[in-house]
Amino acid sequence: MTPKTALTIAGSDSGGGAGIQADLRTFFANGVHGLVALTAVTVQNSLGVQGFTEIPADVVTAQIKAVASDMGVNAAKTGMLATAEIIRSVAKTLDEVEVGPFVVDPVAASMTGDPLLREDALEAIRMELFPRATLITPNLDEVRLLTGVSVVDAASQRAAAEALLEFGSRWVLVKGGHMTGTADCVDLLSDGREYITLSGPRYETENTHGGGDTLASAITASLAKGASVPDAVAAGKKFIERCVAEAYPLGAGVGPVSPFW
Ligand code: PLP
Repeated sequence: MTPKTALTIAGSDSGGGAGIQADLRTFFANGVHGLVALTAVTVQNSLGVQGFTEIPADVVTAQIKAVASDMGVNAAKTGMLATAEIIRSVAKTLDEVEVGPFVVDPVAASMTGDPLLREDALEAIRMELFPRATLITPNLDEVRLLTGVSVVDAASQRAAAEALLEFGSRWVLVKGGHMTGTADCVDLLSDGREYITLSGPRYETENTHGGGDTLASAITASLAKGASVPDAVAAGKKFIERCVAEAYPLGAGVGPVSPFW
């Protein structure tokens, strides 16, 4: 039987922990066929990102058109998009091809603090991609860059969700995983009418590389299979909890969340 398909528009991680490597194994683990539009090649290991080279924007969009016109895309997500030119080209392409539910993970920097976007590109994500998105999945650093809101508690998390929805996505997931001083990881999902709190255990581990990519990909896989946004996010959170619980050290720095169990 032919499985559903999910497309990742994202960069490569030579360390195999994040980026398209995380996306593809998450798609596989969630029973969908993974398609790729590569945006950039990063040079990185567990200690950080040493640099990246972007793929020409017309090659990024040609990849999207090639798979969409032949195989069909049941859901899509973006990860590292590298440049404003790539972002604008992807946005234009999404007006021309059908990709189903569209998840935007506004990746700005690695957890080691290394930039994964050229300057001005986050603004292009906000202007060009958020209005086209079914769901956006910022972490707290990205929330602060996008809205100026520092999320420290439930009230500021809700204020951040409201501010982010102004940018035009249908749903927003404000991820609370990076919040300090909370026993649980509390995420807030909203479409402006419903405010759904998702609470899960916080695991003590240094090894969380690729966590954001893995969560967004798991959500995208569920959307490809026809789940509603709240159901897809709930399933994605269960999946990432398991990956974080099984994360392993690799290299001298931050190890990857694990697809092994
Ligand atoms: N490298 C690539 C290609 C990515 O797409 C990402 C995250 O989206 C990262 C690195 C950073 O991952 P992390 O923040 O989990 O270290």
